[in-house]
Amino acid sequence: MTRFAFQIHARDGKARTGTIQMRRGEIRTPAFMPVGTAATVKAMKPESVRETGADIILGNTYHLMLRPGPERMARLGGLHKFMNWTRPILTDSGGYQVMSLSDLRKLTEEGVTFRSHIDGSKHMLTPERSMEIQRLLGSDIVMAFDECPRADRPLAEIEASMELSMRWAARSRAAFDAGGEHAGGAALFGIQQGALDEGLRARSAAALREIGFDGYAIGGLAVGEGQDAMFATLDFAPGQLPEEAPRYLMGVGKPDDLVGAVERGVDMFDCVLPTRSGRNGQAFTWNGALNLRNARFAEDTGPLDDRCTCPTCASYSRAYLHHLHRSGEILGAMLLTEHNLSFYQQLMSAMRAAIGEGRFAEWAAGFRRDYFARD
Ligand SMILES: [Zn+2]
Repeated sequence: MTRFAFQIHARDGKARTGTIQMRRGEIRTPAFMPVGTAATVKAMKPESVRETGADIILGNTYHLMLRPGPERMARLGGLHKFMNWTRPILTDSGGYQVMSLSDLRKLTEEGVTFRSHIDGSKHMLTPERSMEIQRLLGSDIVMAFDECPRADRPLAEIEASMELSMRWAARSRAAFDAGGEHAGGAALFGIQQGALDEGLRARSAAALREIGFDGYAIGGLAVGEGQDAMFATLDFAPGQLPEEAPRYLMGVGKPDDLVGAVERGVDMFDCVLPTRSGRNGQAFTWNGALNLRNARFAEDTGPLDDRCTCPTCASYSRAYLHHLHRSGEILGAMLLTEHNLSFYQQLMSAMRAAIGEGRFAEWAAGFRRDYFARD
């Protein structure tokens, strides 16, 4: 069986649509990966996640290493069996969340030592340990261990961090390849760094190509730089990476971010936004985002979105969702998360179709007209 193959079916401008083949199933690109932080896509059963059209989900190494722990997960048969998700899973390296969530971090050439945000226990993550944890989880797409500095740091600091990440990328490759049976069935992605700087990103891309990966992520964006700066970086960053491999923009984003990034040659995304917003009463629709807590929905008998094909829109009114969110009912989070994840998958499906039919620019213009229209 194919370990990993990426076939591009059609191109339209810089946008591409294709299929990644892996042992646990196919991934249609451009792809959106719902985030399953702690072995669950919050407020969703795995079978419902699949019914939204998701081909792959993301698991967080940092959270799973702290609880339930990778060795325990391996004894329980791995993450897929544990959470009842049989299709591909991509795991991040843990690096980003060590930086954003843990206390008392200490960064050295070897790796990062930190204290758990849950119980204060001390841990160390290195490229080798990150590869081992992702192997114990049974990840299908393993991410190289890297450091992600804030984009507003001085350039010399961003350069030093990028170079460290490239040395860690080589160590990640070696440790992944030493993983025996798991390495024979899984894929490894490298992560480009260099913040907003074209020269640093070019050097990072060259270093990653030299090592060689199955796919390439664009890291260090969506960390507060704003959409204009992100798009300006995406005007050059995807083109620096190998044309024949999937390109994954980590941690992005809003629907209009996804459209703009696909337009610039990105194939894969993950983001907590549709799930987190669903718990906070925010719905994404073809006509923009709605806050269901707003009093104007109190007697609105229509669906969230009249073009949406999800089960929430088929059966529940805006008025009922408004009531559930105002009342703090769990069902409100469940129904809105289901809609948001379905909407994101309908968005990806529409982009794949438009690219396949060579009308992506026209489709994107129509999307923006409707999404940003003020009612
Ligand atoms: Zn819906």
